[in-house]
Amino acid sequence: MKAMVLESLADLRTRPTPLNLLLLPEPTLTEGEVLLRVTRCGVCHTELDEIEGRTPPPHLPVVLGHQVVGIVEETADVRERPLRISRRRRSPTPEIGQRVGVAWIASACGHCKHCLAGNENLCSEFKATGRDINGGYAEYMKVRADFVHPIPDSFTDSEAAPLLCAGSVGYRALKLCHLQDGQSLGLMGFGGSNHIVLKVAKHKFPNSQIVVFSRNPEEREFALSLGATWAGAINQNPPEGLDAVIDTTPVWDPVHEALKFLNPGGRLVINAIRKEESDKEILLRLDYPSQLWMEKEIKSVANVTRQDVREFLQLAAEANIKPEFQEYELKDANQALLEMKQGKIRGSKVLVT
Ligand SMILES: [Zn+2]
Ligand SMILES: [Zn+2]
Repeated sequence: MKAMVLESLADLRTRPTPLNLLLLPEPTLTEGEVLLRVTRCGVCHTELDEIEGRTPPPHLPVVLGHQVVGIVEETADVRERPLRISRRRRSPTPEIGQRVGVAWIASACGHCKHCLAGNENLCSEFKATGRDINGGYAEYMKVRADFVHPIPDSFTDSEAAPLLCAGSVGYRALKLCHLQDGQSLGLMGFGGSNHIVLKVAKHKFPNSQIVVFSRNPEEREFALSLGATWAGAINQNPPEGLDAVIDTTPVWDPVHEALKFLNPGGRLVINAIRKEESDKEILLRLDYPSQLWMEKEIKSVANVTRQDVREFLQLAAEANIKPEFQEYELKDANQALLEMKQGKIRGSKVLVT
């Protein structure tokens, strides 16, 4: 099978084609796994972090890609596998021919206190698709049967792929904001995730003001066209204080700014796997009275649970939330990643495999 493989970490500025198109053997299944014929795989900003070494290191060589849509081609003793997760959370067994998705969560232990509490995203044995196991930048992939998600019929494969990470993690970030209808929300950065969050937030909170901060004027226009009530640069003052902010940028400046705009009791959720090290001293310059006093909170969002993915897919189908996307051929994955690195983003990028 064809696969775009990462064999060693690389800085895209000096090595703009870090992935190699290779022919690999099709994966062989072990008990409890399914084989997918991949049809689409979304390209995520986290993949830049994986390639450039800002995340826990991938198991090299690795096939990247954790927003996978595919058809189940084969199953291996799925029903016999002793599942340690509770019956309530057990997923129906996927059938051959069924269209399913795979998200960032490839597996978790199923029995630690986090897993049992429904926070399998925090499990110490959490495994990530396309980092700890081979992902979807390929014609085939294998995955545990209980970690695939049915895709609602209303989505095409290309529409569904970006929902599996950008959308699902964005949805988890929005849940962590504890927003109520009528409260105001700020979105810092407007790439693959926050443009979907804007659509979800408009659906769930029709009376809320939603403002967008981006350094890129095209993204600000895009945000307004999708219904943001205001869009400005990162350091511009929004028209009113904000009850919650979701920050998806890779740097610290926006965190510094967002804390100033938060209302008393407001919450900042950082949806970024890593922040750039070079400017971290910005945080040390926090002004306690204006940026944290009055019970302002700052929190990160880590990974996703299967529940997040499934709730979000359902919500997106009900609300007819569809991502904006651009398609690339599998062999052009390096180009898609480079354009993302250069900030040439309008919605989400999807590989046709
Ligand atoms: Zn992702
Ligand atoms: Zn666990």
